[in-house]
Amino acid sequence: MSIYDISLPISPNLPVWEGDPAIELEEILSIDEGADANVSRFSAGVHVGTHVDAPHHFLNDGRTVENLSLDILTGGAFVLHLAEGVDAVDAATLTDSAIPENTSRLLIRTRNSQQWTQKSPKFIRDFVAITPDGAEWLVENKIKLIGVDYLSVAEFNNSIPTHQILLRAGIVVIEGCDLSQVPQGEYALYCLPLKLVGSDGAPARAILVGE
Ligand SMILES: [Zn+2]
Repeated sequence: MSIYDISLPISPNLPVWEGDPAIELEEILSIDEGADANVSRFSAGVHVGTHVDAPHHFLNDGRTVENLSLDILTGGAFVLHLAEGVDAVDAATLTDSAIPENTSRLLIRTRNSQQWTQKSPKFIRDFVAITPDGAEWLVENKIKLIGVDYLSVAEFNNSIPTHQILLRAGIVVIEGCDLSQVPQGEYALYCLPLKLVGSDGAPARAILVGE
């Protein structure tokens, strides 16, 4: 059995979406300074690192992250590799890909995953993302969960349509998966977002378990 931790390490060195709050982790009580224990304070946006989007993020409909179904967040998943030259995940790319017919949870590795190997703290805008017609393809093909390897499922300058199509259909979106070490194939996914009541998203620990 092999376990792949596809969660990004959360630290101030991790890039965050432009305009989102910075990641801060600060020790506020310290044994070295006479306290009984070390205690830290953590502050960040909820769309930080490996995280899930709730429908409320783009639909403003009250469906918040604590209500996402664990039945969808855990179970069989297929990791698809797309070639480095693929610039966008559109319907034609998905049609031509190696996704097995019964797939309901899909994680897509693109050249984005190199960002995590390189550990660059810089946010990039030209990441590979799912186009609106790619999102329609996922709905039509009964995908219940989609995972991507950069901080948004949608193109930088066109966030709304892809998010709305996926979230309206009840597809669970995981963003910021580090798939750099994961071979293409079938796995068991365990994605457990923090139970933040009323939130539009939440950081998650996500692992893939292979044979
Ligand atoms: Zn998000």
